[in-house]
Amino acid sequence: MKLTVIGCSGSFPGPDSPASSYLVEHEGYRLLLDLGSGALGALQRHVDLLDINAIVLSHLHSDHFLDLCPYVVYRRYHPAGPAQRIPLLGPAGTHDRVAMAYDPAARSGLRDVFDVSKVVAEERELGPFRLRFERVNHPVEAYATRVEAAGRSLVYSGDTGASEALVELARGADVLLCEASFVDGPDLPPNLHLTGREAGEHASKAEVRRLLVTHIPPWTDAEQVRDEAAAAFAADTELVAPDAEYEV
Ligand SMILES: [Zn+2]
Ligand SMILES: [Zn+2]
Repeated sequence: MKLTVIGCSGSFPGPDSPASSYLVEHEGYRLLLDLGSGALGALQRHVDLLDINAIVLSHLHSDHFLDLCPYVVYRRYHPAGPAQRIPLLGPAGTHDRVAMAYDPAARSGLRDVFDVSKVVAEERELGPFRLRFERVNHPVEAYATRVEAAGRSLVYSGDTGASEALVELARGADVLLCEASFVDGPDLPPNLHLTGREAGEHASKAEVRRLLVTHIPPWTDAEQVRDEAAAAFAADTELVAPDAEYEV
């Protein structure tokens, strides 16, 4: 499967990257993991927006879902006519939260655009992909996602503090796309985000093949986060960048 980084800026869009969004493709099926602020523009560099087949939201923070609002406009008001509904998976309350962000006065909701269902910690198939989710450690309901196809596996952490559930979900994966929002230091807020070192430790414990470090906020020193991650994980470790493509 192919992974394309649409946006990887942590917590808010930066000067060089939208907030979180990743495109995963296999056999012509296009799955989006998150659609954070700024990502809808960049996504058009890689795919026709009508060709997205499904969207999975890790959680309902604005840097992970807010560009669903302009995406509603695109699908609902397209000059060629309203687009087909596509599956949208997310935490409890996804429909109402996105609908409120789109237009609190609209009564009709977004069910003409999205077939919304709640992420559950069970296997789920979408096109050629088998998905599995685990609840991770963040102030709101948040999930890590494991995507498998053709014997390969990609695990996306979403946002999380230190999490045994993430280690278990990522066990033996080919790629762990893992957030690291902090450089190591004293007095970091607990149960919120990982440091580079912690991302490396999670990758190491899970014995993944490759660690892709993401979700570094613009106010954080990305090189330092990468160095801390690489020091804690003996195998391939790299920082992702917008528009980067990976064969998983
Ligand atoms: Zn985030
Ligand atoms: Zn978050």
